[in-house]
Amino acid sequence: MLQPTKYPKVPELKTALPGPLSKTLIESDEKYTSPSYTRAYPLAVARGEGMLIEDYDGNVFLDFTAGIAVCSTGHCHPRIVAAIQNQAQHLIHMSGTDFYYGPQQELAEKLANIAPGNTPKKVFFTNSGAESVEAAFKLARFHTKRDKVIAFFGSFHGRTMGALSLTGSKAVQRRGFGPLIPGVIHIEYPNCYRCPLKTPGNPCCLKTLDHIEENLFPRIAPPDEIAAVIVEPIQGEGGYIVPPPEFHQRLKAITEKHGILYIADEVQSGMGRTGKMFAIEHWGVEPDIVCLAKGLASGMPLGAIVAKEQIMDWPPGAHASTFGGNPVCCAASLETVALLEEGLVEHSAEMGFFLKSKLDQLATRHELIGEVRGLGLMLGVELVTEKFAKTPAKKERDAVVEICFRNGLLLLGCGDNAVRFAPPLIVEETDILTAVKIFDEALTELADG
Ligand code: PLP
Repeated sequence: MLQPTKYPKVPELKTALPGPLSKTLIESDEKYTSPSYTRAYPLAVARGEGMLIEDYDGNVFLDFTAGIAVCSTGHCHPRIVAAIQNQAQHLIHMSGTDFYYGPQQELAEKLANIAPGNTPKKVFFTNSGAESVEAAFKLARFHTKRDKVIAFFGSFHGRTMGALSLTGSKAVQRRGFGPLIPGVIHIEYPNCYRCPLKTPGNPCCLKTLDHIEENLFPRIAPPDEIAAVIVEPIQGEGGYIVPPPEFHQRLKAITEKHGILYIADEVQSGMGRTGKMFAIEHWGVEPDIVCLAKGLASGMPLGAIVAKEQIMDWPPGAHASTFGGNPVCCAASLETVALLEEGLVEHSAEMGFFLKSKLDQLATRHELIGEVRGLGLMLGVELVTEKFAKTPAKKERDAVVEICFRNGLLLLGCGDNAVRFAPPLIVEETDILTAVKIFDEALTELADG
């Protein structure tokens, strides 16, 4: 058994990294698997438990990635394992597209009831974040009979053709795959630290929205051609960027005025990660469609869109998925939501506050830290080589993540030069103190050269 989180010796490194067994696995993986995967460092994972990851050589790491913001309840939470085992004994697959079964019906009812806002909702199940975005894109076009969608620079919505067309994150993700789906218009996402309009401050950030009515509608596409705006409540892969307070409500008001659907991509920010069940609840906005995946089922591949009932008006056969809503995944999701409602959402808010306060303290001591931002346990630290000029420290960011790995802390980057802290929501103060210490030492090591 792995050591419980409170055990004093975590992380515990027994070999050079990667150790011999991990090395063999990685060499074979490199020979046989797609070179398109983006591995930040050579970690070959044998087991996970709670906050811990153990590699094939017995090295134990503290995990502040949660498998890219997925394992919200921690690795292999006993109640999730039991729910999976129990469901697998009864029914593994039958296809919710063609037949009815309990876990899918129960989860649809649950998600429809907990989704933001009071308007009645309906749920469509998918297998991933990209598929959820794809479904939202199709539903928006179908319902509105309009073809265009507004998305944001810096956004990441996935890699299937529709989702990729909406994604405005990195050119390498789009290059060579065109032509992409026509009708997508990208606009600036407000970033008060790095103002896209080059004049810092909130009013400036909100000018990115004025652009929609002042330029986009009269010059590019009239509003009656726009089916939807798709927005991440907090931009995730783009760098964990929190928009200014009025942003979402102003954006919602524009969409309502013109009969445009407001799609919240909560694939990364949803399911308790930001200290509320859905991040958009921080701003009191009721989206027309919410996209979910990642943290929805504690690591089982499940996604969903939750749409207002009157919007989900597509007829039988218009959209479906063989595996979407798989009973084992739905059982894991029902247990995940139960754990979130029993306290993990509040815990995420509390621990997020604690972690942010510790990272803020580091920012006062380290020249490399430009900004600490985020909500709940969706926190980003943007690294810069010079605080005043805010010169992006991309190389240094990669180096810090690598040094942390070598010292037993798993982190991932986001954006060009930020480090993301997205631990399982079960994280405790002792884990946070350990992680911040390792991060602190990595920054010092880098600064000392
Ligand atoms: N949407 C957002 C906001 C995401 O962060 C991601 C993945 O990082 C996706 C969609 C795509 O999810 P998936 O990789 O499950 O297709």
